[in-house]
Amino acid sequence: MTKEYKTIKTELRLPYELAYGATWTRFFEGMQEKKIYGTKCPKCGKVLVPARSFCPKCFVDTDKWVEVSQEGKLTAWSYTNYRYFGQPVDPPFIGALIRLDGTDVDLLHLVGGIDLKNFDEVKRTIKNGMKVKAVWSDERKGHILDIRYFEPV
Ligand SMILES: [Zn+2]
Repeated sequence: MTKEYKTIKTELRLPYELAYGATWTRFFEGMQEKKIYGTKCPKCGKVLVPARSFCPKCFVDTDKWVEVSQEGKLTAWSYTNYRYFGQPVDPPFIGALIRLDGTDVDLLHLVGGIDLKNFDEVKRTIKNGMKVKAVWSDERKGHILDIRYFEPV
C-alpha cells in the first residue's frame, strides 16, 4: 500500500551574478553602441554570435572580431502566453532563433513589432525563414536585451 504525503507547492529562487569574462564583455560593450559583434574561427572560418572565445566545433581559440549584420532570418520560434519563473519579458512573447546574415550559428532572442496579444496575427505573420532586423532599446546597459527584439522587415 502506497503512503500518501501532504505537500505544499513552493518556489525556489537562486539569484546569482555571472562574470562576462573578456569575450562577452567586449560583445556586450558592442551592444551598448548598437553593434553586434561575433568572433571568427581561424580554422573553419565560422562566425559565432554571441561572440565566443573558442570554436565549439574545432576547439581552437577564435582570433578575429567581426561586426555582423543587424538583419537575418528566423530559423525557429515559439509563442509563450503564460507566466513562469525566469522569463526574460512579460508574456506574451516570441522566443526565437535568428541567423544573422554572414554568421554561422543562431542567436536566441525575441521577436516583436507586431501585436503579440493577437495569436491569429502572430500565426499569419511569423514564419520560419522570414527576414527580421534588430530593434534597439533606447537605454542600453550592456545586456542581451539592449536589442529589444527583432521585428519583421
Ligand atoms: Zn571552427
